[in-house]
Amino acid sequence: MPADILAADDDEDIREMIRLSLREEFEVKTVENGEKAWEYLAAYSDSPPKAVILDVMMPEADGFSVLDRIREHGKTQEIAVIMLTSRSREEDIVRALEAGADDFLAKPFNKSELAGRVQQTLE
Ligand SMILES: [Mg+2]
Repeated sequence: MPADILAADDDEDIREMIRLSLREEFEVKTVENGEKAWEYLAAYSDSPPKAVILDVMMPEADGFSVLDRIREHGKTQEIAVIMLTSRSREEDIVRALEAGADDFLAKPFNKSELAGRVQQTLE
């Protein structure tokens, strides 16, 4: 059974926070790098998650490379993508939106900000 939301972040505390923020409303799957995120999307391409949350800075494949792949493939093209960026790197926000992200959230953020942003993106 595929998740409603796939979230990729290399920080375990953030993965836990994402699960706690969204678990009342959604089935959430978390992974620790971009390569695993893409593997998950490829495995569930016939019934993809409604939204993907991607940290920008991750090992293996970073958030931008996963976003590019999502937008390049027909079966994943329409998935809502929210990027997690660092407040100190504003250029990442511009780049994320230009690359086709639906929204971004600058770290640090709290649980209700994340839950609100995901709801908004799915409306
Ligand atoms: Mg990171």
